[in-house]
Amino acid sequence: MLALANSSHDLSPWLYGYCLVAGIACYLTYRARTTRHLWLTGLLLLCTCAACAGSLAVAIGNPIIWFLPIGLVLSLPASAMHAHPWHALSTGAAIWATLFYVVQPSFDQRLDLTLTLILIGGSLLVATLVCTKFCGIREDVFDLQRQLHGMAYNDTLTGLPNRRAFMERLTVTLADSSAPAPLFFLMLDIDDFKKINDGFGHDVGDQVLVEVSKMLRHRSQGHNFARLGGEEFAVAARVANVAVAQELARSIVNAVNSSQLFGLSLSISVGLANHEPEESIFSLMRRADRALYDAKSAGKNRYSMAGLVAFNV
Ligand code: GH3
Ligand code: MG
Ligand code: MG
Repeated sequence: MLALANSSHDLSPWLYGYCLVAGIACYLTYRARTTRHLWLTGLLLLCTCAACAGSLAVAIGNPIIWFLPIGLVLSLPASAMHAHPWHALSTGAAIWATLFYVVQPSFDQRLDLTLTLILIGGSLLVATLVCTKFCGIREDVFDLQRQLHGMAYNDTLTGLPNRRAFMERLTVTLADSSAPAPLFFLMLDIDDFKKINDGFGHDVGDQVLVEVSKMLRHRSQGHNFARLGGEEFAVAARVANVAVAQELARSIVNAVNSSQLFGLSLSISVGLANHEPEESIFSLMRRADRALYDAKSAGKNRYSMAGLVAFNV
């Protein structure tokens, strides 16, 4: 804008101040992290832009020609970025107020003023409607993203985190070398689940999975847990020592065994492995899986520690 004016134009000394404030407001708008900050810094930015453009129009002469285009160009497109219609309306009103103050237009005919006021009112209405529409679209997109995230990271039947969520969290946990407590991995598998399906039906099998998931969620609060697939679950727990990890495994085995679902005698086996320094996720899971196999071989309804004997709880 400054480049458009030349030395023959009588530039307002305020213009350089407006430009400076606009530059600062531009930076603050870029850095805004909340909708309230975005509104306030955006309002400052647009008002100083209106002041710059208005003073330039005054300097060039015949500002009344530029009055409406400047106000419309600044107030309408910006309305889409706001998070509340009220923000768009107040910003639009502030832009027009700034322009009136800087340009101080004088209308030769009463009709000119009436028409100008109608256009300003219309622009504020459109800004509010545009903002409302964009807010609705953004909310729909946000809801869809949340649903997609839920579908991608949660198991549909049980609502537990799924394998993807578990593995991503476990990768982050293992990468954290500053963690104060050792990590233990529990691989869990419901015993004789196929017999439940075959004997009572798939829907009862599903119900058993849901109930076991509830118990697991209850016992594993604060840890990383998931349904890995089928009737297999996993827990990765950072706990003080092996005794606490064993107590966790024991409590899950006991809780499942003492449940009274449809009069079924349910049980679960657990393979427990401690994470060795520098050990990969796959090695850790393989050792826990082998320990689970040991627990099954030793008679099920128990936990087994990798490298140790199976404990009948
Ligand atoms: P083990 O004690 O050795 O673990 O034997 P098991 O019968 O529990 O294990 P097996 O791997 O033979 O059977 C698992 C069954 O789990 C087979 C499969 O049909 C069933 N299953 C897998 N996913 C689901 C599910 O979402 N719902 C139901 N109802 N059954 C499932
Ligand atoms: Mg299995
Ligand atoms: Mg099984």
